[in-house]
Amino acid sequence: MQAINPFSGEVIQNYPEYSSEYVNTIINQVDAAYQQWKLTDFEYRAKLMKNLQAGLLEKKVELAGIIVSEMGKVFREALGEVEKCATVCAFYADHAASFLKNEVIQTEAEASYISYQPIGTVLAVMPWNFPFWQVFRFLAPALMAGNTGVLKHASNVPGCALAIEQLVREAGFPENVFRTLLISSTKVNSVIENPLIKAVTLTGSTPAGKSVASMAGSMLKKSVLELGGSDPYLILEDADVEKAAQLCVTSRLLNAGQSCIGAKRFIIADKIYDDFEAEFVRLMSQATFGDPLNPLTTIGPLARLDLRDELHHQVTKSQEMGAKILLGGFIPEVKAPFYPPTVLTDVKQGMPAYHEELFGPVAVLFRFETEEEAIRIANDTVFGLGAAVFTSDITKGKLLAEKGLEAGCVYVNDFVKSDPRLPFGGIKESGYGRELSAVGIREFMNIKTIVVKE
Ligand code: NAP
Repeated sequence: MQAINPFSGEVIQNYPEYSSEYVNTIINQVDAAYQQWKLTDFEYRAKLMKNLQAGLLEKKVELAGIIVSEMGKVFREALGEVEKCATVCAFYADHAASFLKNEVIQTEAEASYISYQPIGTVLAVMPWNFPFWQVFRFLAPALMAGNTGVLKHASNVPGCALAIEQLVREAGFPENVFRTLLISSTKVNSVIENPLIKAVTLTGSTPAGKSVASMAGSMLKKSVLELGGSDPYLILEDADVEKAAQLCVTSRLLNAGQSCIGAKRFIIADKIYDDFEAEFVRLMSQATFGDPLNPLTTIGPLARLDLRDELHHQVTKSQEMGAKILLGGFIPEVKAPFYPPTVLTDVKQGMPAYHEELFGPVAVLFRFETEEEAIRIANDTVFGLGAAVFTSDITKGKLLAEKGLEAGCVYVNDFVKSDPRLPFGGIKESGYGRELSAVGIREFMNIKTIVVKE
Protein backbone atom coordinates (compact mmCIF):
# COMPACT_ATOMS: atom_id res chain seq x y z
CA MET A 1 0.00 0.00 0.00
CA GLN A 2 1.23 3.42 -0.88
CA ALA A 3 0.40 6.83 0.56
CA ILE A 4 0.98 9.51 -2.09
CA ASN A 5 0.74 13.24 -1.45
CA PRO A 6 -1.74 14.38 -4.12
CA PHE A 7 -0.39 17.93 -4.17
CA SER A 8 3.32 17.15 -4.51
CA GLY A 9 2.98 13.73 -6.13
CA GLU A 10 5.60 12.38 -3.71
CA VAL A 11 5.33 8.94 -2.18
CA ILE A 12 4.95 9.51 1.57
CA GLN A 13 5.43 5.91 2.60
CA ASN A 14 4.95 2.33 1.43
CA TYR A 15 3.11 0.00 3.79
CA PRO A 16 3.22 -3.78 3.40
CA GLU A 17 -0.26 -5.27 3.27
CA TYR A 18 -1.10 -7.51 6.22
CA SER A 19 -1.10 -11.25 5.47
CA SER A 20 -4.29 -13.28 5.98
CA GLU A 21 -2.66 -15.00 8.97
CA TYR A 22 -1.85 -11.68 10.62
CA VAL A 23 -5.39 -10.41 9.96
CA ASN A 24 -6.81 -13.52 11.64
CA THR A 25 -4.45 -13.09 14.60
CA ILE A 26 -5.62 -9.50 15.04
CA ILE A 27 -9.29 -10.50 14.85
CA ASN A 28 -8.68 -13.18 17.50
CA GLN A 29 -7.00 -10.57 19.72
CA VAL A 30 -9.86 -8.11 19.23
CA ASP A 31 -12.41 -10.78 20.10
CA ALA A 32 -10.44 -11.65 23.26
CA ALA A 33 -10.47 -7.94 24.16
CA TYR A 34 -14.24 -7.84 23.55
CA GLN A 35 -14.86 -10.55 26.17
CA GLN A 36 -13.53 -8.15 28.83
CA TRP A 37 -14.57 -4.84 27.28
CA LYS A 38 -18.26 -5.77 27.14
CA LEU A 39 -18.23 -6.16 30.95
CA THR A 40 -16.94 -2.64 31.62
CA ASP A 41 -19.32 0.10 32.76
CA PHE A 42 -20.26 3.32 31.00
CA GLU A 43 -18.36 5.45 33.49
CA TYR A 44 -15.07 3.73 32.71
CA ARG A 45 -15.65 3.81 28.95
CA ALA A 46 -16.61 7.49 29.12
CA LYS A 47 -13.39 8.32 30.97
CA LEU A 48 -11.33 6.73 28.19
CA MET A 49 -13.47 8.37 25.51
CA LYS A 50 -12.80 11.76 27.11
CA ASN A 51 -9.06 10.93 27.03
CA LEU A 52 -9.47 10.25 23.33
CA GLN A 53 -11.22 13.59 22.88
CA ALA A 54 -8.29 15.29 24.68
CA GLY A 55 -5.72 13.39 22.61
CA LEU A 56 -7.36 14.53 19.38
CA LEU A 57 -7.35 18.16 20.48
CA GLU A 58 -3.78 18.01 21.75
CA LYS A 59 -2.45 16.57 18.50
CA LYS A 60 -4.85 18.26 16.10
CA VAL A 61 -2.21 20.14 14.11
CA GLU A 62 -0.13 17.02 13.58
CA LEU A 63 -3.20 14.90 12.71
CA ALA A 64 -4.57 17.51 10.30
CA GLY A 65 -1.15 17.46 8.63
CA ILE A 66 -1.45 13.71 8.00
CA ILE A 67 -4.90 14.20 6.46
CA VAL A 68 -3.68 16.98 4.16
CA SER A 69 -0.63 15.04 3.06
CA GLU A 70 -2.56 11.86 2.24
CA MET A 71 -5.73 13.19 0.59
CA GLY A 72 -5.12 16.85 -0.17
CA LYS A 73 -7.92 18.77 1.57
CA VAL A 74 -7.07 22.28 2.73
CA PHE A 75 -5.46 22.45 6.17
CA ARG A 76 -8.25 24.59 7.68
CA GLU A 77 -10.84 21.93 6.80
CA ALA A 78 -8.59 19.12 8.07
CA LEU A 79 -8.25 20.90 11.41
CA GLY A 80 -12.05 21.29 11.58
CA GLU A 81 -12.43 17.58 10.84
CA VAL A 82 -10.18 16.57 13.75
CA GLU A 83 -12.04 18.96 16.08
CA LYS A 84 -15.35 17.45 14.99
CA CYS A 85 -14.00 13.99 15.90
CA ALA A 86 -13.35 15.33 19.40
CA THR A 87 -16.99 16.47 19.65
CA VAL A 88 -18.35 13.05 18.69
CA CYS A 89 -16.15 11.44 21.38
CA ALA A 90 -17.50 13.87 23.99
CA PHE A 91 -21.07 13.41 22.76
CA TYR A 92 -21.09 9.64 23.16
CA ALA A 93 -19.07 9.80 26.40
CA ASP A 94 -21.84 12.01 27.80
CA HIS A 95 -24.91 10.30 26.32
CA ALA A 96 -24.21 6.60 25.65
CA ALA A 97 -25.48 5.51 29.09
CA SER A 98 -28.83 7.26 28.64
CA PHE A 99 -29.20 6.12 25.00
CA LEU A 100 -28.69 2.51 26.09
CA LYS A 101 -30.47 2.40 29.42
CA ASN A 102 -33.12 -0.25 29.99
CA GLU A 103 -36.56 0.56 28.62
CA VAL A 104 -39.43 -0.72 30.72
CA ILE A 105 -42.49 -2.04 28.84
CA GLN A 106 -45.63 -2.81 30.86
CA THR A 107 -46.95 -6.37 30.36
CA GLU A 108 -48.70 -8.83 32.68
CA ALA A 109 -45.27 -10.07 33.89
CA GLU A 110 -43.65 -8.67 37.05
CA ALA A 111 -40.99 -7.03 34.94
CA SER A 112 -40.46 -6.68 31.23
CA TYR A 113 -37.94 -4.46 29.55
CA ILE A 114 -35.47 -3.93 26.72
CA SER A 115 -31.81 -4.28 27.60
CA TYR A 116 -29.32 -3.04 24.98
CA GLN A 117 -26.33 -5.39 24.83
CA PRO A 118 -23.22 -5.24 22.61
CA ILE A 119 -22.81 -7.83 19.87
CA GLY A 120 -19.03 -8.14 19.45
CA THR A 121 -16.50 -7.01 16.89
CA VAL A 122 -17.73 -4.81 14.06
CA LEU A 123 -15.80 -4.36 10.81
CA ALA A 124 -15.70 -0.77 9.54
CA VAL A 125 -14.81 -0.25 5.86
CA MET A 126 -14.13 3.45 5.43
CA PRO A 127 -13.44 6.02 2.69
CA TRP A 128 -10.64 8.56 2.27
CA ASN A 129 -12.70 11.74 1.86
CA PHE A 130 -13.12 12.47 5.59
CA PRO A 131 -10.47 10.00 6.76
CA PHE A 132 -10.83 10.84 10.47
CA TRP A 133 -14.47 11.87 10.79
CA GLN A 134 -15.90 8.81 9.01
CA VAL A 135 -13.94 6.53 11.35
CA PHE A 136 -14.73 8.41 14.55
CA ARG A 137 -18.46 8.53 13.93
CA PHE A 138 -18.29 4.72 13.92
CA LEU A 139 -15.63 4.29 16.59
CA ALA A 140 -17.05 6.51 19.36
CA PRO A 141 -20.54 4.92 19.57
CA ALA A 142 -19.18 1.40 18.94
CA LEU A 143 -16.70 1.51 21.83
CA MET A 144 -19.10 3.32 24.18
CA ALA A 145 -21.66 0.57 23.48
CA GLY A 146 -19.20 -2.13 24.56
CA ASN A 147 -18.47 -3.40 21.07
CA THR A 148 -14.96 -3.68 19.64
CA GLY A 149 -13.89 -2.67 16.14
CA VAL A 150 -11.55 -3.42 13.27
CA LEU A 151 -10.95 -0.82 10.60
CA LYS A 152 -10.26 -1.41 6.93
CA HIS A 153 -9.54 2.09 5.73
CA ALA A 154 -9.24 3.27 2.12
CA SER A 155 -5.92 2.21 0.59
CA ASN A 156 -4.73 5.79 0.01
CA VAL A 157 -4.91 6.84 3.69
CA PRO A 158 -2.93 4.18 5.64
CA GLY A 159 -1.19 6.87 7.72
CA CYS A 160 -4.56 8.13 8.97
CA ALA A 161 -5.65 4.56 9.78
CA LEU A 162 -2.55 3.89 11.87
CA ALA A 163 -2.70 7.31 13.55
CA ILE A 164 -6.27 6.59 14.72
CA GLU A 165 -5.25 3.18 16.11
CA GLN A 166 -2.38 4.86 17.95
CA LEU A 167 -4.66 7.58 19.39
CA VAL A 168 -7.01 4.93 20.84
CA ARG A 169 -4.04 3.18 22.43
CA GLU A 170 -2.66 6.42 23.86
CA ALA A 171 -6.06 7.26 25.35
CA GLY A 172 -5.65 4.23 27.62
CA PHE A 173 -8.20 1.89 26.06
CA PRO A 174 -7.36 -1.76 26.72
CA GLU A 175 -5.08 -3.26 24.07
CA ASN A 176 -6.95 -4.52 20.98
CA VAL A 177 -10.41 -3.01 21.49
CA PHE A 178 -9.83 -1.16 18.23
CA ARG A 179 -7.39 -2.26 15.53
CA THR A 180 -6.50 -1.26 12.01
CA LEU A 181 -6.15 -3.86 9.25
CA LEU A 182 -3.95 -2.70 6.39
CA ILE A 183 -5.62 -4.74 3.65
CA SER A 184 -6.92 -4.15 0.14
CA SER A 185 -10.61 -4.31 -0.69
CA THR A 186 -10.21 -7.82 -2.16
CA LYS A 187 -9.66 -9.12 1.41
CA VAL A 188 -12.84 -7.58 2.85
CA ASN A 189 -15.05 -10.58 2.08
CA SER A 190 -12.76 -12.97 3.94
CA VAL A 191 -12.88 -10.68 6.99
CA ILE A 192 -16.70 -10.61 6.87
CA GLU A 193 -16.65 -14.42 6.67
CA ASN A 194 -14.64 -14.69 9.90
CA PRO A 195 -17.09 -15.96 12.55
CA LEU A 196 -15.67 -13.51 15.12
CA ILE A 197 -16.85 -10.56 13.01
CA LYS A 198 -20.46 -9.94 14.00
CA ALA A 199 -21.44 -7.03 11.74
CA VAL A 200 -20.09 -4.64 9.14
CA THR A 201 -20.49 -0.96 8.38
CA LEU A 202 -19.30 0.54 5.11
CA THR A 203 -19.05 4.16 4.06
CA GLY A 204 -18.15 4.48 0.42
CA SER A 205 -19.44 4.08 -3.11
CA THR A 206 -22.62 2.26 -4.04
CA PRO A 207 -20.79 -0.62 -5.85
CA ALA A 208 -18.63 -1.24 -2.75
CA GLY A 209 -21.79 -1.15 -0.61
CA LYS A 210 -23.54 -3.70 -2.80
CA SER A 211 -20.56 -6.05 -2.62
CA VAL A 212 -20.27 -5.82 1.17
CA ALA A 213 -24.04 -6.07 1.67
CA SER A 214 -24.28 -9.27 -0.36
CA MET A 215 -21.44 -10.89 1.54
CA ALA A 216 -22.86 -9.80 4.91
CA GLY A 217 -26.33 -10.96 3.82
CA SER A 218 -25.05 -14.38 2.80
CA MET A 219 -23.50 -14.73 6.26
CA LEU A 220 -26.63 -13.29 7.98
CA LYS A 221 -24.60 -10.51 9.53
CA LYS A 222 -26.04 -7.08 10.06
CA SER A 223 -24.76 -4.27 7.85
CA VAL A 224 -25.06 -0.49 7.79
CA LEU A 225 -24.28 1.28 4.52
CA GLU A 226 -23.51 4.97 4.04
CA LEU A 227 -23.09 5.35 0.29
CA GLY A 228 -22.98 7.94 -2.44
CA GLY A 229 -25.31 10.83 -3.06
CA SER A 230 -26.40 13.36 -5.64
CA ASP A 231 -28.13 15.77 -3.30
CA PRO A 232 -30.74 18.07 -4.88
CA TYR A 233 -31.23 21.61 -3.55
CA LEU A 234 -34.52 23.33 -4.45
CA ILE A 235 -34.43 27.10 -4.66
CA LEU A 236 -38.02 28.35 -4.66
CA GLU A 237 -39.04 31.70 -6.12
CA ASP A 238 -39.49 33.28 -2.67
CA ALA A 239 -35.95 32.36 -1.54
CA ASP A 240 -33.30 34.88 -0.56
CA VAL A 241 -31.25 34.43 -3.73
CA GLU A 242 -27.91 35.76 -2.46
CA LYS A 243 -28.00 33.78 0.75
CA ALA A 244 -29.13 30.61 -1.02
CA ALA A 245 -26.41 30.92 -3.68
CA GLN A 246 -23.76 31.44 -1.03
CA LEU A 247 -24.83 28.39 1.02
CA CYS A 248 -25.18 26.26 -2.13
CA VAL A 249 -21.67 27.15 -3.31
CA THR A 250 -20.22 26.53 0.15
CA SER A 251 -21.75 23.06 0.18
CA ARG A 252 -20.64 22.29 -3.38
CA LEU A 253 -17.00 23.28 -2.77
CA LEU A 254 -16.45 21.85 0.69
CA ASN A 255 -13.67 19.24 0.63
CA ALA A 256 -13.04 20.16 -3.04
CA GLY A 257 -16.51 18.79 -3.77
CA GLN A 258 -15.62 15.32 -2.49
CA SER A 259 -18.43 14.94 0.00
CA CYS A 260 -21.30 12.47 -0.07
CA ILE A 261 -23.63 15.19 1.24
CA GLY A 262 -22.23 17.92 -0.95
CA ALA A 263 -24.98 19.75 -2.85
CA LYS A 264 -24.71 18.49 -6.40
CA ARG A 265 -27.89 19.41 -8.29
CA PHE A 266 -29.54 22.83 -7.99
CA ILE A 267 -33.17 23.09 -9.08
CA ILE A 268 -34.16 26.71 -9.40
CA ALA A 269 -37.51 28.44 -9.90
CA ASP A 270 -37.85 30.03 -13.33
CA LYS A 271 -38.62 33.49 -11.89
CA ILE A 272 -35.31 33.80 -10.04
CA TYR A 273 -33.23 31.46 -12.23
CA ASP A 274 -31.17 34.14 -14.00
CA ASP A 275 -30.30 35.99 -10.79
CA PHE A 276 -29.40 32.79 -9.00
CA GLU A 277 -27.28 31.48 -11.89
CA ALA A 278 -25.32 34.75 -12.13
CA GLU A 279 -24.61 34.85 -8.39
CA PHE A 280 -23.81 31.13 -8.23
CA VAL A 281 -21.31 31.33 -11.11
CA ARG A 282 -19.76 34.48 -9.61
CA LEU A 283 -19.17 32.78 -6.26
CA MET A 284 -17.92 29.54 -7.84
CA SER A 285 -15.43 31.50 -9.96
CA GLN A 286 -13.99 33.18 -6.85
CA ALA A 287 -12.70 29.89 -5.46
CA THR A 288 -8.97 29.51 -5.74
CA PHE A 289 -7.24 26.19 -6.01
CA GLY A 290 -3.66 25.61 -4.92
CA ASP A 291 -1.41 24.34 -2.13
CA PRO A 292 -3.71 22.93 0.58
CA LEU A 293 -1.34 24.24 3.25
CA ASN A 294 -1.71 27.82 2.00
CA PRO A 295 -4.43 29.55 4.09
CA LEU A 296 -5.60 31.46 0.99
CA THR A 297 -6.45 28.28 -0.92
CA THR A 298 -10.17 27.47 -1.13
CA ILE A 299 -9.89 24.05 -2.74
CA GLY A 300 -7.02 21.59 -2.78
CA PRO A 301 -6.31 18.91 -5.34
CA LEU A 302 -8.64 15.96 -5.68
CA ALA A 303 -7.39 12.96 -3.74
CA ARG A 304 -6.14 10.91 -6.69
CA LEU A 305 -5.39 11.36 -10.38
CA ASP A 306 -7.83 8.62 -11.45
CA LEU A 307 -10.66 10.33 -9.54
CA ARG A 308 -9.94 13.65 -11.29
CA ASP A 309 -9.84 11.93 -14.71
CA GLU A 310 -13.14 10.16 -14.01
CA LEU A 311 -14.79 13.45 -13.02
CA HIS A 312 -13.52 15.18 -16.17
CA HIS A 313 -14.82 12.30 -18.26
CA GLN A 314 -18.30 12.73 -16.73
CA VAL A 315 -18.19 16.45 -17.62
CA THR A 316 -16.89 16.07 -21.19
CA LYS A 317 -19.23 13.16 -21.96
CA SER A 318 -22.19 15.25 -20.78
CA GLN A 319 -20.94 18.17 -22.89
CA GLU A 320 -20.72 15.94 -25.98
CA MET A 321 -24.33 14.94 -25.34
CA GLY A 322 -25.50 18.58 -25.24
CA ALA A 323 -24.74 19.98 -21.77
CA LYS A 324 -23.45 23.56 -21.60
CA ILE A 325 -20.42 24.51 -19.51
CA LEU A 326 -20.82 27.93 -17.89
CA LEU A 327 -17.60 27.74 -15.89
CA GLY A 328 -14.56 25.44 -15.64
CA GLY A 329 -14.73 22.03 -17.27
CA PHE A 330 -11.02 21.75 -18.15
CA ILE A 331 -7.93 20.10 -16.72
CA PRO A 332 -5.53 22.78 -15.46
CA GLU A 333 -1.95 22.60 -16.72
CA VAL A 334 -0.43 21.56 -13.41
CA LYS A 335 0.91 18.22 -12.24
CA ALA A 336 -1.41 17.82 -9.23
CA PRO A 337 -4.95 16.49 -9.84
CA PHE A 338 -6.78 19.82 -9.54
CA TYR A 339 -10.20 20.36 -11.03
CA PRO A 340 -11.63 23.86 -11.35
CA PRO A 341 -15.06 24.86 -10.02
CA THR A 342 -17.38 23.88 -12.86
CA VAL A 343 -21.01 24.75 -13.61
CA LEU A 344 -23.17 22.83 -16.08
CA THR A 345 -26.60 23.60 -17.52
CA ASP A 346 -28.85 21.95 -20.13
CA VAL A 347 -28.21 18.59 -18.49
CA LYS A 348 -30.72 15.96 -19.61
CA GLN A 349 -31.62 12.36 -18.84
CA GLY A 350 -29.05 9.96 -20.29
CA MET A 351 -26.07 12.21 -19.56
CA PRO A 352 -23.57 11.15 -16.85
CA ALA A 353 -24.04 14.51 -15.11
CA TYR A 354 -27.76 13.80 -14.78
CA HIS A 355 -27.54 10.33 -13.25
CA GLU A 356 -24.12 9.85 -11.66
CA GLU A 357 -22.56 11.22 -8.53
CA LEU A 358 -20.14 14.06 -9.39
CA PHE A 359 -17.43 13.69 -6.75
CA GLY A 360 -15.65 17.00 -7.21
CA PRO A 361 -16.41 20.73 -7.59
CA VAL A 362 -18.96 20.32 -10.40
CA ALA A 363 -22.50 21.72 -10.10
CA VAL A 364 -25.52 21.11 -12.30
CA LEU A 365 -28.22 23.80 -12.58
CA PHE A 366 -31.82 22.99 -13.58
CA ARG A 367 -34.74 25.37 -14.15
CA PHE A 368 -38.30 24.53 -13.05
CA GLU A 369 -41.70 26.11 -13.60
CA THR A 370 -43.96 24.16 -11.25
CA GLU A 371 -43.16 22.63 -7.88
CA GLU A 372 -44.27 19.23 -9.18
CA GLU A 373 -41.59 19.51 -11.84
CA ALA A 374 -38.99 20.48 -9.22
CA ILE A 375 -39.83 17.45 -7.09
CA ARG A 376 -39.77 15.18 -10.13
CA ILE A 377 -36.26 16.33 -11.10
CA ALA A 378 -35.05 16.15 -7.49
CA ASN A 379 -36.27 12.59 -7.00
CA ASP A 380 -35.24 11.34 -10.46
CA THR A 381 -32.11 9.70 -9.09
CA VAL A 382 -31.05 6.37 -7.65
CA PHE A 383 -29.65 8.24 -4.66
CA GLY A 384 -31.44 9.47 -1.55
CA LEU A 385 -28.92 10.86 0.93
CA GLY A 386 -29.55 14.55 1.62
CA ALA A 387 -31.55 17.42 0.12
CA ALA A 388 -32.35 21.05 0.86
CA VAL A 389 -35.09 23.59 0.20
CA PHE A 390 -34.60 27.35 0.16
CA THR A 391 -37.78 29.35 0.72
CA SER A 392 -39.16 32.09 2.94
CA ASP A 393 -42.33 30.02 3.41
CA ILE A 394 -41.32 27.73 6.27
CA THR A 395 -44.60 25.79 6.20
CA LYS A 396 -44.06 24.96 2.55
CA GLY A 397 -40.39 24.17 3.19
CA LYS A 398 -41.33 21.69 5.93
CA LEU A 399 -43.99 20.08 3.75
CA LEU A 400 -41.55 19.57 0.86
CA ALA A 401 -38.95 18.27 3.32
CA GLU A 402 -41.35 15.78 4.92
CA LYS A 403 -43.49 14.62 2.01
CA GLY A 404 -41.79 15.69 -1.21
CA LEU A 405 -38.08 14.94 -1.21
CA GLU A 406 -36.81 11.34 -1.17
CA ALA A 407 -33.79 11.62 1.13
CA GLY A 408 -32.49 10.52 4.53
CA CYS A 409 -32.30 14.13 5.66
CA VAL A 410 -33.55 17.47 4.41
CA TYR A 411 -32.45 20.92 5.56
CA VAL A 412 -34.62 23.98 5.03
CA ASN A 413 -32.65 27.19 4.30
CA ASP A 414 -29.27 25.64 5.06
CA PHE A 415 -26.93 23.09 3.60
CA VAL A 416 -26.86 19.51 4.82
CA LYS A 417 -24.29 18.64 7.47
CA SER A 418 -23.63 15.73 9.78
CA ASP A 419 -24.14 16.45 13.47
CA PRO A 420 -23.52 13.96 16.32
CA ARG A 421 -26.96 14.81 17.77
CA LEU A 422 -28.89 13.93 14.60
CA PRO A 423 -29.34 10.62 12.76
CA PHE A 424 -27.37 10.43 9.51
CA GLY A 425 -27.93 8.10 6.55
CA GLY A 426 -29.76 7.55 3.31
CA ILE A 427 -32.43 5.69 1.40
CA LYS A 428 -32.48 4.11 -2.08
CA GLU A 429 -28.93 3.44 -3.36
CA SER A 430 -27.47 5.81 -0.77
CA GLY A 431 -27.68 2.92 1.67
CA TYR A 432 -29.53 1.92 4.82
CA GLY A 433 -29.19 2.15 8.56
CA ARG A 434 -28.21 5.28 10.45
CA GLU A 435 -25.11 6.63 12.15
CA LEU A 436 -24.85 9.23 14.94
CA SER A 437 -27.41 10.17 17.63
CA ALA A 438 -29.25 7.60 19.77
CA VAL A 439 -30.37 5.80 16.60
CA GLY A 440 -26.78 5.25 15.42
CA ILE A 441 -25.48 3.72 18.64
CA ARG A 442 -28.38 1.22 18.65
CA GLU A 443 -27.59 -0.16 15.16
CA PHE A 444 -25.06 -2.68 16.43
CA MET A 445 -26.78 -3.74 19.63
CA ASN A 446 -28.69 -6.82 20.65
CA ILE A 447 -32.04 -5.28 21.50
CA LYS A 448 -32.72 -7.88 24.14
CA THR A 449 -36.18 -8.51 25.55
CA ILE A 450 -36.19 -9.54 29.21
CA VAL A 451 -39.37 -10.85 30.84
CA VAL A 452 -39.39 -11.73 34.56
CA LYS A 453 -42.16 -13.66 36.34
CA GLU A 454 -42.17 -14.49 40.03
P1 NAP B 1 -14.96 3.38 -2.40
O1 NAP B 1 -14.06 3.23 -3.56
O2 NAP B 1 -16.24 2.65 -2.40
O3 NAP B 1 -14.10 2.97 -1.13
C1 NAP B 1 -14.62 3.01 0.19
C2 NAP B 1 -14.03 1.88 0.99
O4 NAP B 1 -14.53 0.65 0.49
C3 NAP B 1 -12.51 1.79 0.88
O5 NAP B 1 -12.00 1.33 2.10
C4 NAP B 1 -12.31 0.76 -0.22
O6 NAP B 1 -11.07 0.10 -0.15
C5 NAP B 1 -13.47 -0.18 0.08
N1 NAP B 1 -13.95 -0.94 -1.07
C6 NAP B 1 -14.00 -0.54 -2.36
N2 NAP B 1 -14.55 -1.52 -3.12
C7 NAP B 1 -14.85 -2.54 -2.29
C8 NAP B 1 -15.44 -3.82 -2.47
N3 NAP B 1 -15.83 -4.25 -3.67
N4 NAP B 1 -15.58 -4.61 -1.38
C9 NAP B 1 -15.21 -4.19 -0.18
N5 NAP B 1 -14.64 -2.99 0.07
C10 NAP B 1 -14.48 -2.16 -0.97
O7 NAP B 1 -15.32 4.88 -2.13
P2 NAP B 1 -14.32 6.11 -2.01
O8 NAP B 1 -13.89 6.49 -3.38
O9 NAP B 1 -13.26 5.82 -1.01
O10 NAP B 1 -15.26 7.22 -1.36
C11 NAP B 1 -16.12 7.96 -2.13
C12 NAP B 1 -17.52 7.42 -2.06
O11 NAP B 1 -17.94 7.31 -0.71
C13 NAP B 1 -18.51 8.37 -2.70
O12 NAP B 1 -19.46 7.65 -3.45
C14 NAP B 1 -19.16 9.05 -1.51
O13 NAP B 1 -20.40 9.60 -1.77
C15 NAP B 1 -19.20 7.94 -0.52
N6 NAP B 1 -19.33 8.46 0.84
C16 NAP B 1 -20.51 8.29 1.50
C17 NAP B 1 -20.69 8.81 2.77
C18 NAP B 1 -21.98 8.65 3.52
O14 NAP B 1 -21.98 8.87 4.71
N7 NAP B 1 -23.05 8.27 2.88
C19 NAP B 1 -19.65 9.50 3.38
C20 NAP B 1 -18.46 9.66 2.68
C21 NAP B 1 -18.30 9.13 1.41
P3 NAP B 1 -9.88 0.49 -1.15
O15 NAP B 1 -9.53 1.91 -0.90
O16 NAP B 1 -8.80 -0.45 -0.77
O17 NAP B 1 -10.41 0.27 -2.55
